[in-house]
Amino acid sequence: MKYKRILLKLSGESLMGDKQYGIDNERVKQYAEDIKAVHDKGLEIAIVIGGGNIFRGLSAEKSGMDRAQADYMGMLATVINSMALQDALEKVGIKTRLLTAIKMEQICEPFIRRRAVRHLEKGRVVIFGAGTGNPYFTTDSAAALRAIEIKADVVLKGTRVDGIYTADPEKDPLATKYDEISFREVYDKGLNVMDMTAFTLCEENQVPIIVFDMNKHGNFMKIANGEPIGTLVK
Ligand code: UDP
Repeated sequence: MKYKRILLKLSGESLMGDKQYGIDNERVKQYAEDIKAVHDKGLEIAIVIGGGNIFRGLSAEKSGMDRAQADYMGMLATVINSMALQDALEKVGIKTRLLTAIKMEQICEPFIRRRAVRHLEKGRVVIFGAGTGNPYFTTDSAAALRAIEIKADVVLKGTRVDGIYTADPEKDPLATKYDEISFREVYDKGLNVMDMTAFTLCEENQVPIIVFDMNKHGNFMKIANGEPIGTLVK
């Protein structure tokens, strides 16, 4: 396998499947199976999940809520998603640990960097919940931060599009996909890969990012194997 330790970022919305809200159990099951296949090859896998399928701080602020309060609610939403994925992973026989940036002793461990690394070394899939634990951040930033902390080889951003395009492929039929692009080009072209905080963290710490379509069964394995699908940012 090309990598030893990877950080997989999944958006909350990806867990919705075809639903408008919440969690599609079939989708979560598919992810669990894909993750198991890669885990069986001996890769160390850490996961960060978003919460956008349940609650987003920024949208709630637009409807009049206090931003920080709403962001904490968003962080709790990521814990719900993390627990759903944890359950699905354990159903397929993988040992997991959920570590959260906000303490919730009855359901998970608090995030302690050294403990996270130890879990990974022991072959457990580690899920990082509650984002960074701070309002005004996103789970993309949490993914970048945790990836650096645990010294992951790469951040794999699983989305529903198969990479980074010159324009939004869902709106512009002429948009073409990049196979590889530099951090600088992403800035210069104003492309949207991750939010700027997350993106800059990866750039400064030389952690490459691969954007790929996680919804296609088997893609995660191809990416973990180093096959050139998706878009590599380095
Ligand atoms: N959030 C936060 N701090 C973090 C991570 C997340 O405040 O470190 C909140 C924020 O309100 C965000 C919500 O949690 O809108 C859900 O996360 P995100 O929007 O990143 O999820 P995704 O878009 O990946 O589903």
